[in-house]
Amino acid sequence: MPGFELFGKEERDQVNEVLDTGILMRYNFDAQRKGIWKAKELEQNIQSKVGVKYAQLTSSGTTALITIMNAMGIGAGDEVILPAFTFVASFEAVLAVGAIPILVDIDKTMTLNPNAVEKAITPRTKAIVPVHMCGAMADLDLLLEIAKKHNLYILEDACQAIGGTYNGKYLGTIGDAGCFSFDFVKAVTCGEGGVVLTDNQEWFKKSDEYSDHGHDHIGNDRGAETHPFLGLNYRISELQAAVGVAQWNKLDEIIALQRRNHKAIKAELEQIKNIQFREIPDENGDSCSTISLIFPSEEIARRASEELKKEGVGGFYWYDNNWHYIRKWNHLKDMMTMAPLYKEHKDLLPNYSEQDFSVSDAVMSRVITFGISLSWTEQDSKERGNKMKTIISNLL
Ligand SMILES: *Cc1c(COP(=O)(O)O)cnc(C)c1O
Repeated sequence: MPGFELFGKEERDQVNEVLDTGILMRYNFDAQRKGIWKAKELEQNIQSKVGVKYAQLTSSGTTALITIMNAMGIGAGDEVILPAFTFVASFEAVLAVGAIPILVDIDKTMTLNPNAVEKAITPRTKAIVPVHMCGAMADLDLLLEIAKKHNLYILEDACQAIGGTYNGKYLGTIGDAGCFSFDFVKAVTCGEGGVVLTDNQEWFKKSDEYSDHGHDHIGNDRGAETHPFLGLNYRISELQAAVGVAQWNKLDEIIALQRRNHKAIKAELEQIKNIQFREIPDENGDSCSTISLIFPSEEIARRASEELKKEGVGGFYWYDNNWHYIRKWNHLKDMMTMAPLYKEHKDLLPNYSEQDFSVSDAVMSRVITFGISLSWTEQDSKERGNKMKTIISNLL
């Protein structure tokens, strides 16, 4: 699953090139850096690989989301539709720009249910954020159609689905804009990092400026640069970008290993009677970083979760997880901000604790997701799948 499993000499060599110059910042210092521009190099490599016009690196996936929303003009009072199953960063970013996260039900794709999305649209809605959870995609064709009909943006949160595709196009490049995260547990890691992907030149320029205090990056005298807009510091450093360059070069290898191991496990699990897999709109595009099973009932899922864990082949039972599903987001439900929000912002927020997510509960209470390790051999994967099959079959 995470790129850190393939960490090695390539990463060290890249970092050493930066350490040799001592220039750890991604901008300026043109004379001293001896032609070493790791952030620029990584942006170019990402652009050419995924087929997008512009890539802007940031300090994290969270700041990539905040940056692109600013560039898209999403702000005070705008509503942004998100799935109730996601990583907290998705709604944190929406709140950070002064907008309103509207959480809607998921379905057996484990991400946005297009009907729930359509129902949630209001005159304030600005964007839909398909979050491609656990390595595979939302039903993008339907969501793109809805967005078009209602004149909304599609911002893909592809932080968990680097290397996945939909109808042959890389996830993160299909909507109006997309984001990857390169945090430590993602398919490709920089330690910490993220990237904004878009074909929109204006949004790219704004992202470049926003993530560096509004600097226009014209010329090579930082002090003389102008600032068309206010921004913040969401820059990535050259050290992180250097790790990213080495990791990005391994993307095809990472995806190939995931797919091989996923296939071996799935061949075993498919033999279990009465088990369902997560629905995947384009199976060929699954990055295969995980595999998710949908059990016949919550009770069986809970028992399977315990048994599998006991036997060393456990997975994630999201329903009880504090980070990824609305059920346990008490800090959001109670709006536990450290400092006060503007009253207008607070007044526009839905009361998340009173919203009905029973449709999502009916799926999430039955799902267990298993990570696919890059370090397993094909035989390891098969044996693991076989062990899981025996344990689960005994419970059904
Ligand atoms: C990891 C992740 C993010 C945020 O990335 P960070 O780099 O950790 O800030 C956003 N959305 C999803 C779905 C993620 O999994």
